Amino acid sequence: MSVVTGGCACGGVRYEVRGPLRDVIACHCEQCRRTSGHFVAATACRRGVFSLPRSTTLKWFIAVPGYRRGFCSECGSSLFYEEIGGERVSIAAGTLDEPQGLKIAAHIFVAEAGDYYSIEPGVPQSQDGEHNVALP
Ligand SMILES: [Zn+2]
Ligand SMILES: [Zn+2]
Repeated sequence: MSVVTGGCACGGVRYEVRGPLRDVIACHCEQCRRTSGHFVAATACRRGVFSLPRSTTLKWFIAVPGYRRGFCSECGSSLFYEEIGGERVSIAAGTLDEPQGLKIAAHIFVAEAGDYYSIEPGVPQSQDGEHNVALP
């Protein structure tokens, strides 16, 4: 099986995914906008196929109770978002090493989108967090 790799800008955090990646969901919620500086585009995988060969500078921040956001405490890269102990690990799509052929399949929390950009037409949108993009 192919191994997908990725990491932060300084190399302090490196991850591996030994399984399929979900298509990308773009989240426009205020939390994502503030922490990324724009909106967040994230793929995801199941926890069982995810590993962290290097995580010396990885820091977790409790974003909302029960959920945490992983970022590099050295270079500031935003990397992960997950329900603590949950089945899914969300991974910022821009941190993948190689093109993976993924596409943005949904835009969520568009009610909170910034007013300085427009969202591409032809891709499903939801006002809240609902979407039909399955985790493979
Ligand atoms: Zn880093
Ligand atoms: Zn969000």
